[in-house]
Amino acid sequence: MNFFTSETLNVPTQEIKARFLDNAAVQLHIRREDLIHADVSGNKFRKLKYNILQAQKNGYKQLLTFGGAYSNHIAATAAAGKLCGLQTIGVIRGEELGDMLEKTLESNDTLRFAKQQGMQLHFVTRTQYREKTTAGFLEELIRYFGDFYLIPEGGTNELAILGCQEILTKEDGIYDYICCAVGTGGTISGIINATGDQQHVLGFPALKGNFLRKEIECYTAKTNWSLMDSYHFGGYGKVNQELVTFMNSFKKDNTILLDPLYTGKMLYGLYDLIKTEYFPKKSRILAVHTGGLQGISGINKQLKKKQLPVIEVGSS
Ligand SMILES: *Cc1c(COP(=O)(O)O)cnc(C)c1O
Repeated sequence: MNFFTSETLNVPTQEIKARFLDNAAVQLHIRREDLIHADVSGNKFRKLKYNILQAQKNGYKQLLTFGGAYSNHIAATAAAGKLCGLQTIGVIRGEELGDMLEKTLESNDTLRFAKQQGMQLHFVTRTQYREKTTAGFLEELIRYFGDFYLIPEGGTNELAILGCQEILTKEDGIYDYICCAVGTGGTISGIINATGDQQHVLGFPALKGNFLRKEIECYTAKTNWSLMDSYHFGGYGKVNQELVTFMNSFKKDNTILLDPLYTGKMLYGLYDLIKTEYFPKKSRILAVHTGGLQGISGINKQLKKKQLPVIEVGSS
């Protein structure tokens, strides 16, 4: 009955074979969290799991959360709500998107998908959106929608981190390094909590700014981790030709599709570190594919407009 507890998870680990790995004398494996489910995949499955179980346990009928117009978290929450029989409300940044809703839904695959899953879309101005954690704004939302279980933007809270701790298993103790993309820091915090002290976690932020370290320190007391700050490609949502070319060749070599905002940047950075001999010889590296593939179409539309090469989706 329950999607989050009854599902037997399909999460294979795939070894990457390439000459540059042999040259650096390291091993690289990819944990395919992107294969968990077509619509609730990767770290979004992990982050929603205990939140939705908690909402159901406490008798909530609806979930409310926040996100931008292309948010993986919005898409996943909409799908998970439908699978679990909970209403969903998405508070979306950008009032203008709601003013021309038909046009928005026609051109934006993420929001159209969320709506098809039954999510009620509530568009707010950027100013209102910034207020999203204030008591006043939340009270207004409760008056308008009735009571709801609140999931923060990006889905990160204590229960989300509990879910992300399940990304690693006991057998993963063999890896010296675990790598993942970082947005709000929830996923890496869970991963760090699940590691042994002899292991090291490398995070690749998808955005600029040095608030992330503090954020992660709120969720984990362990210190066996570092952030690799130079692979955000100019900031959140920024994508250039070099990144797209990398992702397309990675897809061709390994038949693994990456997303342009998170896992593409992480693997680009990881390849760069391996090639510049960051890792000691014989290192065993596990990179976590956190999903996010629903966001590709939005980025491809932008790339097409600029007449730049697009991310090849194809069949894998
Ligand atoms: C949301 C997302 C992340 C970021 O996760 P955080 O827990 O916010 O750090 C990483 N990868 C993908 C594919 C995502 O969709």
